[in-house]
Amino acid sequence: RSIVTMSLNGDPSGSYHEVDSFPEGYNYGDEDEVIGAVGGVENKPRILLMGLRRSGKSSIQKVVFHKLSPNETLFLESTSKVVKDDINNSSFVQFQVWDFPGQIDFFDPTFDSEQIFGSCGSLIFVIDAQDDYRQALIRLHQTLTKAFQVNQNIKFEVFIHKVDGLSDDRKWEAQRDIQTKATCDLADAGLDGLLRPSFYLTSIYDHSIFEAFSRVVQKLIPQLPTLENLLNILVSNCGLEKAFLFDVVSKIYIATDSSPVDMLSYELCCDMIDVVIDVSCIYGDDVEACAYDQQSASIIKLSNGVILYLREVNRFLALVCLIREEVFERQGLIEYNFHCFRESIQQVFEVRRKTQGPLTSLGSYSDDN
Ligand code: GDP
Repeated sequence: RSIVTMSLNGDPSGSYHEVDSFPEGYNYGDEDEVIGAVGGVENKPRILLMGLRRSGKSSIQKVVFHKLSPNETLFLESTSKVVKDDINNSSFVQFQVWDFPGQIDFFDPTFDSEQIFGSCGSLIFVIDAQDDYRQALIRLHQTLTKAFQVNQNIKFEVFIHKVDGLSDDRKWEAQRDIQTKATCDLADAGLDGLLRPSFYLTSIYDHSIFEAFSRVVQKLIPQLPTLENLLNILVSNCGLEKAFLFDVVSKIYIATDSSPVDMLSYELCCDMIDVVIDVSCIYGDDVEACAYDQQSASIIKLSNGVILYLREVNRFLALVCLIREEVFERQGLIEYNFHCFRESIQQVFEVRRKTQGPLTSLGSYSDDN
């Protein structure tokens, strides 16, 4: 691979901790403005991370949103209290992740399940696939049914986690087993058809956790069909192979065009974001400037005739696409279409800012769509 062009800017913090990721604590600043735009922190939808102790909840949160390297999670203390984390790094991704300790008893009468599940957007239940998961399945069933009683609009997600330690066969076996047992338990409770959790195989040691989180977050984005539509138009007008709209800080893709997502392409795009930010942080000449701004753009030419192309869309989002070399020769056309695309995205933001109240009722999202 060779890097052809890259626009560089300075290091925002002046400090740099990790080579393969954003500097820890990096953000775009000015978060109040973003929070204000959606009507206050407390009204944001929540993503609840639940699961037994040591299932990997804190690690997931730290790796995806705080750029901790996976090896460092070995030294994390196990979650012992409810930890609320506000994720404000993208206008489309504004929510809270609540990391619950495994040992809390949700069925204790003093536990306010109305408050916990009432305004919850997604509930992610993490199961350690390397461990005996019988206890986790019992807990999963209790949690799903209790949450569903309180709020029927919750999106239920199950992360079959730590699959890096399993062979491919054991991975699929674990998924089949967990999925079948969880579904049977729900059927026995008369909830099949009403409550349909999605299952993902995840690990913090590869991109699967980012991919899974992308899918979870996308379900919470009311504008998703509009964004996908815009990406489809861009892809067909420019002859792109694939296009992702990334939240730059978390490397969650908040939308992509309708062609299937191939993990390898996604990983390449994630790596490209890391490269652009790293090079920008290390070699940017203006120390005061941000590592990612309006000038951010990059072209990486791969040896197989495919070009990775990154463009800033706004201060949170970047378009990253794969283009065949011969198609990239029509750069004027791509440039023109990209500007139309960027303008449309801005309009989507404008509409949201003007019309949207707080992101409280996720039920109304799907109604609107
Ligand atoms: P919590 O109690 O649910 O918050 O669990 P932690 O996040 O503290 O994780 C418990 C242990 O699992 C830590 O030693 C992590 O390093 C490890 N862990 C977390 N995620 C993964 C993973 O994807 N793969 C592997 N092999 N270990 C993981």
